[in-house]
Amino acid sequence: MAFDNIDDACQRHRLVRVRLSQRDLENVMRMCVNPCLACGACCAFYRASFYWMEADVFTPGGAPEELTQKLNDFRLVMKGTNGSVPRCIALNGIVGRQVTCSIYERRSSVCRDFEPSWQNNSCNPDCDKARRAWGLEPMTPEFWFDDWNFPQAA
Ligand code: SF4
Ligand code: SF4
Repeated sequence: MAFDNIDDACQRHRLVRVRLSQRDLENVMRMCVNPCLACGACCAFYRASFYWMEADVFTPGGAPEELTQKLNDFRLVMKGTNGSVPRCIALNGIVGRQVTCSIYERRSSVCRDFEPSWQNNSCNPDCDKARRAWGLEPMTPEFWFDDWNFPQAA
């Protein structure tokens, strides 16, 4: 869905428009392009486990091993996500406001494969569940639009 201007976009995403520096304005626009940058709920709700070969000691450019721990003989888990109150060690920022993944380019398959609801025209109930757990309403197709040509790295 397209918006005519930044005010429409901010209203849709419940962002308060205030005087923003150019850098902050670009951050807001990035969050409109990629709502995950204003969420992060899944990174602080689910256990992020993956096959041990995905660690960088076995796969160049893979998940940094020092940020993982052994889950079992076959799988590693991102530190911080294997407890009763999960929060991935690689997650920066405040859930539901502004977040980034500090290893975005090196994140494991479990993270790469987790699709935000409606990014590709279908709902992901697990995305909705994580957001609800953090008091965030599930996303709708209107959360996504790509009129602005900003990088989409989260
Ligand atoms: S590695 Fe990044 S994307 Fe994966 S759970 Fe951690 S913060 Fe989230
Ligand atoms: S995938 Fe869903 S739960 Fe995860 S950060 Fe994106 S919007 Fe939030």
